[in-house]
Amino acid sequence: MNSIIFLIVVCCIYYLFNKYYEEYVQERYHYYFGTFVIVYCVLLYLFNFESQFTYKVLKNIHDTSKQPLYSFNSKESNAELFQSQYPNFNIKETLLTLQNGRCNACSNFIMKEDLHNCKLKYKTPLQNGGQNQVENIGIVCPQCFEFQ
Ligand SMILES: [Zn+2]
Repeated sequence: MNSIIFLIVVCCIYYLFNKYYEEYVQERYHYYFGTFVIVYCVLLYLFNFESQFTYKVLKNIHDTSKQPLYSFNSKESNAELFQSQYPNFNIKETLLTLQNGRCNACSNFIMKEDLHNCKLKYKTPLQNGGQNQVENIGIVCPQCFEFQ
């Protein structure tokens, strides 16, 4: 309610200004003022009667501005960017270290020489709600990958 009173007061001031200082008023001021009133009314409407919608829009803007830029790219270019930033990062070696050098399924040791034969596998499959994150990926030996 206060904001409507504020708008009325502003309109009154503008009206009086036009009445008593006519020689200073230019035509474009009317356009500016009209634009201001329209924008003000739209904002008023959004915040009072469409608050849920406004909240969603503002939240989206907030989330988007917090998101790192590279995540806007497609999955492939994201991987390329990651690779260019961490040229020495090897996901298989990293996972093998995390798993103490053992297969994630059968716990047999995996030799470094066999690493290129080993496969990455989601611990919780994506269709069962698993996340596409390193924590959800395990490295398994070729036998386990084929016979599971
Ligand atoms: Zn295995």
